Amino acid sequence: MNGHGHVIPNADGSKARCGGPGICADCSRELTQFNIDQMDARDTFLAASVAVWREIDRLDAEPEGYHPVRMSVELRQSERAAWERYRDLIGSRP
Ligand SMILES: [Zn+2]
Repeated sequence: MNGHGHVIPNADGSKARCGGPGICADCSRELTQFNIDQMDARDTFLAASVAVWREIDRLDAEPEGYHPVRMSVELRQSERAAWERYRDLIGSRP
């Protein structure tokens, strides 16, 4: 968590730290937006994952049963993309 850092001008020309979320309005806004993005990424990943498992259930119920090759490439790709977005947000902070 770096926030935007040393931005408050001191009398001697140096700059003081902004104080980070809870103290600095810009950092607080940045953290809130990050949390919103992370929740959105989580929800999107969950929905994409549920879609994949629904498709697996549907294929399971057919006479041929589930085989990976029968899985929708589009569904797998959208789950992968949703996972990567969520994964990258889990591992980072503003
Ligand atoms: Zn700040």
